[in-house]
Amino acid sequence: TAFIGGSIAGIGDLFGQVQRAIGASERILEIHNESSELEEVSEENLIRFKGELSFDEVAFQYPSRKDMPVLCGLSMQVDSGEKVALVGKSGAGKSTIAHLLMRLYDGFGGSIKVDGQEIQSYDLSAFRKNIGIVPQEVILFGGTIRENIAYGKPNATEEEIEAAAQKAHALEFIKSFPEGLDTLVGERGVKLSGGQRQRIAIARTILKDPAILILDEATSSLDAESEQQVQLALNELMKGRTTLIIAHRLATIKEVDRIYVVENGKIKESGAHNELIGDVNGTYHHLVNLQLVN
Ligand code: ADP
Ligand code: MG
Repeated sequence: TAFIGGSIAGIGDLFGQVQRAIGASERILEIHNESSELEEVSEENLIRFKGELSFDEVAFQYPSRKDMPVLCGLSMQVDSGEKVALVGKSGAGKSTIAHLLMRLYDGFGGSIKVDGQEIQSYDLSAFRKNIGIVPQEVILFGGTIRENIAYGKPNATEEEIEAAAQKAHALEFIKSFPEGLDTLVGERGVKLSGGQRQRIAIARTILKDPAILILDEATSSLDAESEQQVQLALNELMKGRTTLIIAHRLATIKEVDRIYVVENGKIKESGAHNELIGDVNGTYHHLVNLQLVN
């Protein structure tokens, strides 16, 4: 993964990553909570985005660290339906880009637009209905598998839930439990593997059907078979959606429309793998050599 390849310094960094991951998943749960109240939003408010993204000279520092700019003049464009990878050293600001897009923080400089309009101009819950995220470490809430999947669409029918589980390559293992979709998960239920939890989160997101998707790439925690299943599920999920992938694996990066290399708060390089790797003095080349991307 991005932070193990490095050095001794990676240990403190790992701690920070874990802490941040926990913070992020709490917030992510909030996002889901808000989305599930969306049934009250009237139909006209529920615009479906095309999913065109544009970051223009975005500048940001976290409120607790005003002295430390994280992004300073970051610009990038993503067309509707494109898949792009964000790569860069640990701490470069990749997750921060995702957080700003999810509107977890305001008070950034420059502009972030979706479909040509500043993100702040949209109703927050309607906006978040259009954004899905699959984090690196999926935490399910205590309840049944069905409830965990239906979180993406509270009024989903049985057929829709099964279809989403099928597309997420999760139906087979779900059906292998005697209680099927009614199997309890969490502390008082079955223990699921990391790959199984991810496929449930993917099924939830398929059901939610957002135009924009953020993937914080799942890596080392999965065994090879599980990883392959998750990849198939992700391929299904990404179809037709604008996707930002915080990527560590060359296998993923080679498939995307464009790679953005984040360094010093900006996009330092962008292009396809073959273009970027050719620049032996470039950051991308360096990241691959250090096996921060592998
Ligand atoms: P990446 O995802 O590329 O590893 P992050 O976006 O998580 O990087 O972090 C970018 C910088 O912002 C790092 O220096 C990190 O320590 C800092 N940072 C991240 N989250 C927070 C936070 N909630 N509060 C303060 N600083 C943070
Ligand atoms: Mg990150």
